[in-house]
Amino acid sequence: MLDELQETWAQLLPGYRPAKLVLFRGSIRSGCGAAGAQMGPFYCPADEKVYIDLSFYDQLRRRFGAPGDFAQAYVIAHEIGHHIQKLTGVEPEVRRLQRSRPGQANALSVRMELQADCLAGVWGHSTARRDILEAGDVEEALRAAAAIGDDAIQGRSGAVRPESFTHGSSEQRVSWFRRGMNGGDPNDCDSFAAGAR
Ligand SMILES: [Zn+2]
Repeated sequence: MLDELQETWAQLLPGYRPAKLVLFRGSIRSGCGAAGAQMGPFYCPADEKVYIDLSFYDQLRRRFGAPGDFAQAYVIAHEIGHHIQKLTGVEPEVRRLQRSRPGQANALSVRMELQADCLAGVWGHSTARRDILEAGDVEEALRAAAAIGDDAIQGRSGAVRPESFTHGSSEQRVSWFRRGMNGGDPNDCDSFAAGAR
């Protein structure tokens, strides 16, 4: 799936450079420091690797109620979306803005995460076009996107505080994934544009 995903991006993005995938359980040392369980999947720009703690997949299935191979694929495609953002310069620019405007750090993080969801959808579009999706695959990805929205996660353990969101609400995550999925065009993924929701 990773090879297929990256071949798609090599065609869409001139100069694409493949990222590596690290699957682990427990804790691991990454180019971005030590990562433990409960950290969730992440992309490290310093070593250009995607780190997936396999216990997150257990959680996605059991606790978040989002089982299925395509739900897992969506998570990897989202993280590769962050790799795209490094290659296109969006990621370093956002980090720079977050340092200079700490009050907007969360809002900028939400924009970056929604773009990664949209980029995951762009790959989803290409799989649909090549007819390699199974019935229910898209629903699996949408269920996962909804399950890991900030409001869904916060609501499970207490009050929902939109100002503390870092990834976007369930509705936003689903809608940006859909946007990429429907059009298949990375240019549709400008979540930073004025008026983007
Ligand atoms: Zn992310």
